[in-house]
Amino acid sequence: MRRIIGIQTHHSVNLDDASRFGVNMLTALEATLKRTGDPEIEALLDELRPLVRQIGVARTAAGLRLKMHQRDADFKRYVDGDLPWPDELEEGFLPRCSCDDRCLFHDVGRGTFEDDCNCDRVCGQHGEAEAA
Ligand SMILES: [Zn+2]
Ligand SMILES: [Zn+2]
Repeated sequence: MRRIIGIQTHHSVNLDDASRFGVNMLTALEATLKRTGDPEIEALLDELRPLVRQIGVARTAAGLRLKMHQRDADFKRYVDGDLPWPDELEEGFLPRCSCDDRCLFHDVGRGTFEDDCNCDRVCGQHGEAEAA
């Protein structure tokens, strides 16, 4: 039974999280400062603000790289997890397991047979043996 339509997410998704959590942390500390006037909290905020800004810059840069990769001939293979993203480490890369992938065309009823059917796709991690 195929359950998911899997993708290999790009690390800009992780940086989105980091950025969002950073902003949440700022908001929480600002609320604390407002209620306590505690100079220690103020000092924490002074350290945190530039950090959160830098994380935002890193996130924006990663997002731009992702946009550039969308024009790559291999883009679909990155998304499918057959290849590592070009701006991520090759070392330790494992093709994404697609054993449980659903077929967009046959299981979901979207897309076209030519472009979206993955029924005959061999899992990059488990190969022919388990795909059979
Ligand atoms: Zn697999
Ligand atoms: Zn199919």
